[in-house]
Amino acid sequence: MDYKQELKNFFGERCLSDESMANHTTYRTGGPAEVYIYPATPEEWSFVLKLAETYQVPLHIIGFGSNILVGSKGVPGIVCSTKQMNNILVEADCIKAQAGAALDKMCEIACQAGLGGIEKLSGIPGSIGGAVYMNAGAFGQETFDTLEYFDVIDRQGRPATLLKEEIKYAYRHVEGIQNYIVLSAGFKLTRTDFTQLLETRNSILHKRIEKQPLNYPSAGSVFKRPANDYASRLIDDTGLRGLSIGGAKVSEKHAGFIINFNHATPEDIRELMRQIREKVKAKHGIELELEQILWGNFA
Ligand SMILES: Cc1cc2nc3c(=O)[nH]c(=O)nc-3n(C[C@H](O)[C@H](O)[C@H](O)COP(=O)(O)OP(=O)(O)OC[C@H]3O[C@@H](n4cnc5c(N)ncnc54)[C@H](O)[C@@H]3O)c2cc1C
Repeated sequence: MDYKQELKNFFGERCLSDESMANHTTYRTGGPAEVYIYPATPEEWSFVLKLAETYQVPLHIIGFGSNILVGSKGVPGIVCSTKQMNNILVEADCIKAQAGAALDKMCEIACQAGLGGIEKLSGIPGSIGGAVYMNAGAFGQETFDTLEYFDVIDRQGRPATLLKEEIKYAYRHVEGIQNYIVLSAGFKLTRTDFTQLLETRNSILHKRIEKQPLNYPSAGSVFKRPANDYASRLIDDTGLRGLSIGGAKVSEKHAGFIINFNHATPEDIRELMRQIREKVKAKHGIELELEQILWGNFA
């Protein structure tokens, strides 16, 4: 029996073969994952990790695929989705959420419960696991501001709880996080008037609709913010707004986004990223650093 058959036997309908990653990423493009599964418990994760180790197969973790570009030749090995782990629990002024819960749902629940500290993360279309992995943030708030701890399983299948104090983190960066699978995370929030929180949330959701090209597939900001500047300002100032390659285009609405406006291939998007970096470097001498993550094999 090979590893694919073992996974099929174990996960049944929760195991898909040659599954197009266009179905699981917000860019809506990308080649197939050899195997795509939905582990739901620590025991199931342990099983998959052991299997990957035994058969020496690469293993990837995906939340909502809102920060990933997958090459058109696909992802070798196993892609594990966290979507089946999506509970959110409020206890006094703390929230504990499983990795596959929606960050925006947690923000909504917190606002309604009068718990402040994450309201400005409203509208980020990722999972809790993805938010912890990236230290996602917006409008001056970051995931790690209110994060207290997160439960993980390491690549050898050992469970652990990591406290924020033990982790080095920075803007869109969490040191050593690649060694872990985030299973859940706990946040300590602050009692705040819920009408005020809901007002902030609504105004942020409105700003996103106003400023971001939400009617096209994208994966949000392509590049990290360089020191003392904005990637979108540099891209705009380099005259790249609207630049297109194949079906991929620098958004006219927000120059920090690349949109898939017409059946873009992953290679269209990757080439556009390359050209943006090259042209911004030539004009401003600044190397833009990718925020988005490239997976698998590109043509
Ligand atoms: C329209 C739009 C707007 C956006 N706005 C913002 C914004 O304002 N601020 C911001 O920070 N980001 C923004 N993003 C980007 C993205 O939503 C965030 O980075 C988000 O945190 C990614 O979460 P995800 O679940 O989609 O992660 P994925 O894209 O699925 O994965 C990203 C990385 O996290 C890893 N990962 C995911 N889950 C786990 C887990 N449980 N354990 C270990 N590793 C894991 C993956 O392996 C991968 O390396 C935006 C994206 C879009 C499309």
